[in-house]
Amino acid sequence: MSTVLETEEHQALRAAVAALGKRYGREYSTACARNGEHPRELWSEAGKLGYLGVNLPEEYGGGGSGMAELAIVLEELGAAGSPLLMMVVSPAICGTVIARFGTDDQKRQWLPGLADGSLTMAFGITEPDAGSNSHRITTTARRDGEQWVLNGRKVFVSGVDIADATLIVGRTEDARTGKLKPCLFIVPREAPGFGRSHIEMELQAAEKQFELVLDDVRLPAAALVGEEDAGLLQLFAGLNPERIMTAAFGIGMGRYALARAVEYAKTRQVWKEPIGAHQAIAHPLAQAHIELELARLMMQKAARLYDDGDDIGAGEAANMAKYAAGEACVKAVDQAVHTLGGNGLTREYGLGSLITASRVARIAPVSREMILNYVSHQSLGLPKSY
Ligand SMILES: Cc1cc2nc3c(=O)[nH]c(=O)nc-3n(C[C@H](O)[C@H](O)[C@H](O)COP(=O)(O)OP(=O)(O)OC[C@H]3O[C@@H](n4cnc5c(N)ncnc54)[C@H](O)[C@@H]3O)c2cc1C
Repeated sequence: MSTVLETEEHQALRAAVAALGKRYGREYSTACARNGEHPRELWSEAGKLGYLGVNLPEEYGGGGSGMAELAIVLEELGAAGSPLLMMVVSPAICGTVIARFGTDDQKRQWLPGLADGSLTMAFGITEPDAGSNSHRITTTARRDGEQWVLNGRKVFVSGVDIADATLIVGRTEDARTGKLKPCLFIVPREAPGFGRSHIEMELQAAEKQFELVLDDVRLPAAALVGEEDAGLLQLFAGLNPERIMTAAFGIGMGRYALARAVEYAKTRQVWKEPIGAHQAIAHPLAQAHIELELARLMMQKAARLYDDGDDIGAGEAANMAKYAAGEACVKAVDQAVHTLGGNGLTREYGLGSLITASRVARIAPVSREMILNYVSHQSLGLPKSY
């Protein structure tokens, strides 16, 4: 890759993370998923090497770089077959929000641990009755003296079982106007009233998803992140990193699947030439490669804008990058499985399970359709139907 798009430091980071990912590889991730375990060893080694916190401020133990670097880490781990989904949440969303808006105490308490991997934080915004329409969330925070009392429900929240706390997006009741305003709270895993139940997913992944019930969860004033009135701003600051990182997740998985298919197509021979010589096999693989590269370009653009402080410009690019990466990932995985014929569905080759996993990049954290809505309205100025 040229130094025009990525510096020598970026390329060195790619190579170093790729080497770490290769040491663990797909077998490690598959074993964790089958045993229902968090990829603890890889998480903690990546943390110790400074990769998990590469975007977090140096004064709190981070690498002092940005989303461009964090995205490289996740993409390369994924390309090696061992992605760390919780990177999307813990250092990218939660780390960013706390670093940018948290109080000094919150920064001291959380950032060094999020950076070295000794602490993990989940992120809960999705609600059963709100879904893609996050304006409709009803998890509500009420003041009671010095405390906050939270009530509500969340769904599909990843990694709550292994996370030390979950950053919960709620709304405060404004006593003067009766209006609800978004706000973020750090809820410790064992807080009384904070219940979780595991959702059985058709996904082979180490990270589990949970439905959460917040039933009069009492939190100290210090659990509110930053300012009560700046909740929307804080939320948006975390959403661009989330989209950029989901793009990295999709590109990494797509690259992993494509590489397996290319290896196979070079050697599998049932006629005179290896199957990769047939254009019906070669061209879709070439297209998948092009689409993954294009998605990465948009991801790099989004990360650059974000790291340069252009939150608005990054918003459009991050959405587009997530869209492009989700689609490229789904297509690459589909073609990879097909290239292997019957072996595409065997345990031995391990590609079949990526069919469901790749759909995550299309659905979460914001679905393909909601990005198309965003681009229709924000970029093209078309009218809204909802
Ligand atoms: C593996 C996984 C991990 C997840 N992890 C987390 C997490 O850690 N934290 C968290 O908060 N959430 C998490 N989520 C939730 C995820 O962000 C949501 O599933 C996603 O935002 C979609 O919401 P929904 O499932 O309620 O779908 P819905 O909003 O019900 O949408 C269903 C379908 O309708 C379409 N649709 C909805 N509205 C419109 C419209 N206006 N125009 C066109 N089409 C529309 C959608 O595109 C979608 O195809 C996770 C989900 C998965 C699958």
